[in-house]
Amino acid sequence: MDRAYVHAYADELGRSIEHTINESNVPDKLPPHLEFARTRVQCNLDAPVHTESITYSGAYASMRVDNSVQLDFFQENFRVEVKRLTKDDMEVDLIGIDPSIANAFRRILIAELPTMAIEKVFIANNTSVIQDEVLAHRLGLIPIAVDPRLFEYISENDSPNEKNTIVFKLHARCKRGEPRLTVKTKDLIWLPNGSEYLLEGQNPDSSSSSKPKTYTSFSCSQDSLPEFANNPISTLPDITIARLGPGQEIEFEAHAVKGMGKTHAKWSPVATAWYRMLPEVVLLEDIEDKDAEALVKTCPVKVFDIEDIGNGKKKAKVARPRSCTLCRECLRVGEEWEKRVSLRRVKDHFIFTIESTGALPPEVLFTEAVKILENKCERVFSELS
Ligand code: SF4
Repeated sequence: MDRAYVHAYADELGRSIEHTINESNVPDKLPPHLEFARTRVQCNLDAPVHTESITYSGAYASMRVDNSVQLDFFQENFRVEVKRLTKDDMEVDLIGIDPSIANAFRRILIAELPTMAIEKVFIANNTSVIQDEVLAHRLGLIPIAVDPRLFEYISENDSPNEKNTIVFKLHARCKRGEPRLTVKTKDLIWLPNGSEYLLEGQNPDSSSSSKPKTYTSFSCSQDSLPEFANNPISTLPDITIARLGPGQEIEFEAHAVKGMGKTHAKWSPVATAWYRMLPEVVLLEDIEDKDAEALVKTCPVKVFDIEDIGNGKKKAKVARPRSCTLCRECLRVGEEWEKRVSLRRVKDHFIFTIESTGALPPEVLFTEAVKILENKCERVFSELS
């Protein structure tokens, strides 16, 4: 064997061994710049970067980092934190999830949670300036404060009964010589025995023992059911239905049934359901004195405060990053402020806001959305197995 070949072979072997040793020393995590791109959206002055969600399991295979979804890791890290809860809305942080899950909740809340809404309006008289169709459309959008879980869906072949229909009536008249009358939802009267309008051909004065038929077939009064005995069904009280001038009158019956937002928006239980990623505002260097004052003054939502660092000097600090709206004004305070302030979004931390229409409390909407997502997952599992 010639000497040159032996040396070349030894060199190659040495490199190979060195490479093997180095490979075995590769840490099980990404270098900082890749970890940053994986977990943060960087919001620059012109456009955001690293906006994609890197879910491919082999995305970092060359670095020996397994990027696949790990169920036990998810279970350990997933958190739900309620930040604000009122009777109308809630803000909840969903931490450790993919945008697709947050979006699934949003879509379920808007389109797949049932409520009760007015579907049929029987107009007996309408001399107001609002056309019948517009009046019926307005009535459909009125939130009805009742738990839809107490009712059944009605199909075309079902007759309206106490389990699937709620009936309201309204009769309002503005007498001549009186000021204009505002008709509000509080004027709607719940009819627990169902419709009072007779079907065509029925004789109200019939002497037979059976009652004349109406547009509903209630076998009992709804207020005799335990759910409604002490809890009469109502709508939100202060919504304007119509304004009547002197001499004008409206009289109708409205029938509400159970449905979902994907059929018509009137059944959607939320005014809106939306999310945003958690803002992260970082000062890349100390910003002091006049610059600090300019920065604090620039931010419209008061993300920054000034702290006294002694010797008459002041320094800017990030006090309320959650309020950041990403207006980017802080990057325009002066030349090259992108090198001083960094605006980011945390990719797996969602600030989720639910605004209820008033039909159901927001926390009930959230838990019902979780149940629907759970049922969907179970259906996928059962169909795959
Ligand atoms: S982006 Fe706008 S809201 Fe956010 S910290 Fe900067 S100035 Fe304030």
